Amino acid sequence: MNGRAERIQVNIEGLAALPGLLLAWYGENARDLPWRRDREPYRILVSEIMLQQTRAEVVKDYYPRFLEALPTLGALARCGEGTLLKLWEGLGYYSRARNLQKAVQKIEFGLGGRFPDTYEGLRELPGVGPYTAGALASICFDLPVPAADGNVLRIMSRIAGFDAPIDLPAAKQSVTDALAAIYPESRRGDFTQSLMELGAVVCLPNGAPKCGACPAAELCFAKRNNAIARLPVKSRKQPRRVEDRTVLLLVCEGRIALRRREGEGLLGGLWELPNVPGALDAQAVLDLAAQWETEPLALTRRFSRAHVFTHIRWEMTCCAVECGARSHSFVWAGRGELEREYALPSAFRKLLEGLYD
Ligand code: SF4
Repeated sequence: MNGRAERIQVNIEGLAALPGLLLAWYGENARDLPWRRDREPYRILVSEIMLQQTRAEVVKDYYPRFLEALPTLGALARCGEGTLLKLWEGLGYYSRARNLQKAVQKIEFGLGGRFPDTYEGLRELPGVGPYTAGALASICFDLPVPAADGNVLRIMSRIAGFDAPIDLPAAKQSVTDALAAIYPESRRGDFTQSLMELGAVVCLPNGAPKCGACPAAELCFAKRNNAIARLPVKSRKQPRRVEDRTVLLLVCEGRIALRRREGEGLLGGLWELPNVPGALDAQAVLDLAAQWETEPLALTRRFSRAHVFTHIRWEMTCCAVECGARSHSFVWAGRGELEREYALPSAFRKLLEGLYD
């Protein structure tokens, strides 16, 4: 199997019954999530971008806060980067926030505030891929367009007995086509959401699926053929690169040294604790702090933490250093400012735990 754009046969026999089964189940069992209470495109866009790579249980806390601060498309289009990143702090994958803002800026300033209402129009928005466009098209505009993310691909692979690697583009397209062929005449947004819901609470990504509670059990190829452990099939992943980093927690009169990360790369534009590649020993850390003109007085604590990104794992050695001078190389944030003003990614924020106890 290669990545060419060939179509793969999906056995859709029997799948015609799927929308009826899922819609009935969804009507009874859908979780009450804040973004399910309306179909307003701006609000659904915010939720869908947040839900990329992040579980609903986490997004539930961020979503209302974000919309309270930026209740309209125009408000997000005009807000400063610092405000945006602070609202996104801890959600990770910060390029999502920037793309979300670019998308609403395009609508606000390029399309006269008119939200695109076709799949093709939605796809032209920055950061809106086939999945998000499908979700918006079906949920907000009732169009028969599937939204095939990892959850939906897993479910479909099991139900239809689809045994090609689901992370290949051709496989994804084939599943999308198979789903498009069975979209119902009404409640299309609900059908999209019922698939997502099934993947989130019944046909789980990790651990055993709850087949006893599954509305699609009678159709399911994997269940009937004892093939659950084998499906979905995935291509072999590249192992994560492991990177050692030494992070300096420089403290001067109760204030912490921060600096801004450059560029658009990993965590680009966000604030960070000063850090360097490699695992430095205590003397090298003090020398570095001196070189940064912080007049280090003592290394007070040294501990290790790991942080996992999509492709990299940071093995961090964190060194807390009491300093005698606030070097101009950094901003020095007090406790309140750290909470209110600076968007500090989780990789660094977790190193501050216990600092003020
Ligand atoms: S029957 Fe089991 S394996 Fe099949 S879709 Fe339902 S939960 Fe998943």
